[in-house]
Amino acid sequence: MTDLSGRTALVTGSTSGIGLAIAEALGAAGARLALHGLAGDMEVHDAVERVRKAGSPQVEFFPGDMRHPDRIAELMAAVAAWGGADILVNNAGIQHTAPTSEMPDEKWDAVIAINLSACFHTMKAALPRMAETGFGRIVNIASVHGLVASKDKAPYVAAKHGLIGLTRVVALEHAATGSAETGGVTANCICPGWTETVLIEPQIEARAKAHGGDREKGVADLLSEKQPSLRMSRPPDIGALALWLCSPAAHNVTGTAIPIDGGWTAQ
Ligand code: NAD
Repeated sequence: MTDLSGRTALVTGSTSGIGLAIAEALGAAGARLALHGLAGDMEVHDAVERVRKAGSPQVEFFPGDMRHPDRIAELMAAVAAWGGADILVNNAGIQHTAPTSEMPDEKWDAVIAINLSACFHTMKAALPRMAETGFGRIVNIASVHGLVASKDKAPYVAAKHGLIGLTRVVALEHAATGSAETGGVTANCICPGWTETVLIEPQIEARAKAHGGDREKGVADLLSEKQPSLRMSRPPDIGALALWLCSPAAHNVTGTAIPIDGGWTAQ
């Protein structure tokens, strides 16, 4: 069992989906949790309650629109004042699908800002404290689309490929920081394939439409195209890997991009 008591984790985009499941996993291991996201009061309240119930000794929500570097700076300053993040999970993300020739410029800008540039800004702010204490864990939620491409996802694929490259740079810069005893400072990506969250709902609906509105057939269609296991991952599956990456045993695991994709990238 990984014991994270005394550690503080910031999970961006943790009001729903994969981020919330990661926050629950880290909270169950005893970490203080800084939750974050673009969400209404009810959603924030529910997320805080879930992470508290999972076992986190202290849970607080911090707002901040990841499209804007100024808002990110405010978020990171607020978390620093709350004790500072020993664990940073960059999870907030959006998707927009369209052929490249029809991709709206503002969608390109938003996907790159949230899925890539925001991760640079949060890491830049969080790394000095990690270097000082000799313990830090950066877990960036990339995607199979950080490793391979699909059509109609230009900004998303560019952002996720960029995030894996960025994570490798940070991993190399901090590879020799700390020790096995302090835990070291590591930076890794998790690369999910299809995972059951609202993010992929528009893509499921589009496939369902082609099958007379049958959602199950839409999901089966989506999976059969790319994900050989023919089943989706569940958010807690990603949470379990994030937790392991935060464990003492993972002190020498850095610069990796680990797929949870039912064989998608093995093809
Ligand atoms: P989700 O929509 O449930 O979660 C996205 C989170 O990001 C939410 O908490 C939301 O509030 C936050 N967010 C969105 N825009 C924001 C903004 N401008 N500022 C601040 N926060 C913002 O979706 P999810 O599937 O849980 O996605 C989480 C991560 O997992 C994303 O980075 C996504 O790319 C990645 N991912 C998801 C899948 C999948 O199949 N669901 C597959 C691969 C990778």
